Amino acid sequence: MTDCLFCKIREGRIPAAITYRDEEVIAFKDISPKAPFHQLVIPTQHIASLADAQAAQAGLLGRLLIVGTELARAAGYGERGFRVVMNAGPEAGQSVAHVHLHVLAGRTLAWPPG
Ligand code: AMP
Ligand code: ZN
Repeated sequence: MTDCLFCKIREGRIPAAITYRDEEVIAFKDISPKAPFHQLVIPTQHIASLADAQAAQAGLLGRLLIVGTELARAAGYGERGFRVVMNAGPEAGQSVAHVHLHVLAGRTLAWPPG
């Protein structure tokens, strides 16, 4: 999608610190990290929100979790712990309309989230 920030990152039109890429999934460091480790995992396909997800996309959405987990494990947070979060819609605080999984680690994370 032309005006989508994360599609622009996928296309290299906006720079990002990309940590993983394959045909289905890209991961990169969050520009404004909320924890010592904070990466975003996105589908290469433009899906605006989890609220738009279809059953046929279950495998793709599952891959976001697996890639996020592998990145957290590779950074040494498999045992310590990490959190994955996906905000969907305005009341949940979604600010970029392209599905993205937050992967956060490296500090004690409060619960419940605000
Ligand atoms: P959300 O608020 O759940 O939609 O998350 C959007 C995230 O994208 C925020 O954590 C932002 O810090 C992050 N973000 C915004 N612009 C960029 C960018 N150019 N590169 C990397 N992360 C970004
Ligand atoms: Zn997009």
